[in-house]
Amino acid sequence: MATAAEAAAGRRAPPRLFIGGCWRDASDGRVLLTEHPATAEPIGEVALAGTPDVAAAVGAAREAAARWARLDAADRSAILWKVADAVEAHAERLALLEVLDVGKPIREARIDIRETVDTFRYFAGWSTKIHGDTVPVRGAVFNYTLREPVGVVGAIVPWNFPLLQAAWKVAPALACGNTVVLKPAEQSPLTALELAELATAAGLPAGVLNVVTGDGPTTGAALVRHGDVDAIAFTGSTETGRVVMREAAARTCPVSLELGGKSPNIVFADADLRAAARGAYNAIFYNAGQCCTAGSRLLVQASVRDALIEQLLERARALVPGDPFDARTRLGPLVSGEQHARVLSCIRAGVEDGARLLLGGDAAAVDGFPGGHWVQPTLFAEVDPDSALAQQEVFGPVLAILTFEDEAEAIALANRTIYGLAAGIWTADGARAHRVAREIRAGTVWINMYNPLDPASPFGGMKQSGFGRELGADALGFYTQVKSVWYGLS
Ligand code: ADP
Repeated sequence: MATAAEAAAGRRAPPRLFIGGCWRDASDGRVLLTEHPATAEPIGEVALAGTPDVAAAVGAAREAAARWARLDAADRSAILWKVADAVEAHAERLALLEVLDVGKPIREARIDIRETVDTFRYFAGWSTKIHGDTVPVRGAVFNYTLREPVGVVGAIVPWNFPLLQAAWKVAPALACGNTVVLKPAEQSPLTALELAELATAAGLPAGVLNVVTGDGPTTGAALVRHGDVDAIAFTGSTETGRVVMREAAARTCPVSLELGGKSPNIVFADADLRAAARGAYNAIFYNAGQCCTAGSRLLVQASVRDALIEQLLERARALVPGDPFDARTRLGPLVSGEQHARVLSCIRAGVEDGARLLLGGDAAAVDGFPGGHWVQPTLFAEVDPDSALAQQEVFGPVLAILTFEDEAEAIALANRTIYGLAAGIWTADGARAHRVAREIRAGTVWINMYNPLDPASPFGGMKQSGFGRELGADALGFYTQVKSVWYGLS
């Protein structure tokens, strides 16, 4: 399957890095293998960038920085719009590459690419709208502010939404006049390389977007430590985020961190239960639960618990993992053998801690794909709110169901976590919905819906889910710095 798909995707490129508008080998020739998660067969090799390669990429980004920053904003905007057009024109190939690399269902990969296009277009529009203020200071002085780019941005992204996560960082960074060194995750490097090539062909000047493939400890760490990187935009696990923050602190480099989650999805007794069951299903099974916003804790009011569970079970039983290249597939494999082992160990911990297993609970067997990283859709009820299953991010198709009696208990349970990325609320009572939304410490709250995001609306975490906001006008602050200019009038 991987071979046929790869032919369709049309990529068996040599393992090279994209630096200063050119393809280059890693200086020591090291490579990484990338595999197709549905078969665990290798797709090909990518370069493993070492410290000198990262330095070359940062050097290229620095060299391009002044010209890109001084380009007329309208011209920057036009180029970013053309990048969006190029991604759109190659959408199907990019979606196939994403399926090949990550194993996500093609239906979801196509959504990722569409949202990538939207993200570039949204931030292309911002280029011409970023400006300072005139400030009424005391005295005969003309004071104004300039909103300048920060310079060279290091962007480090994870494997669950590879191209989309890259766009969330690259598009605002470039719109604000920065240059970027992008490091995709080792599991999913292909579309970042394609993006750089497409963007350059679309008119992005050499050096404005550079891509270094490689692993975290080598390539990612070299990027974070490089003294000429002005800001690090990171998305990944909370543990790695802490490491990145510590490294960046050593040279006072600003970071934005979008980290893990254990998001509560709260269903009140007055909710439309059909809609809530569908929402809870999508919240945990989209991208096989490999979403930082996954609604992995379902909090349900006791009086409707059995009715909701029944509907959810009916849906989940019909969710059969299968070939991610088939447009009918809704559940693909997990990204890697490592994630597969991790998710199964979280399931075992749930059983050992006494949660009641309602469905799944094991690796899945999929005809024709014996080597794939499959996990059955898994539902647990009567989960102890302090157990690992209720507290730790699983990053797989595993739902922990807890019950509550009243609104106060729902809020307390929802907030009983170190994370604060997202939450869902299902109720017919509008006042309650907005009251609870205010009480929950999370960066995104969905009411009677779950999952959708939009480039125009800010996204990010509270508590140990990180800080800084991506998307929307709120993203611009991280990618710009303000200068106050004083001009004496007397
Ligand atoms: P996950 O657990 O989702 O694989 P990680 O947080 O380990 O997430 O990885 C997210 C991104 O961070 C990847 O691109 C990875 O290569 C990178 N990364 C991992 N470790 C480091 C590190 N020490 N410094 C910088 N980047 C890292």
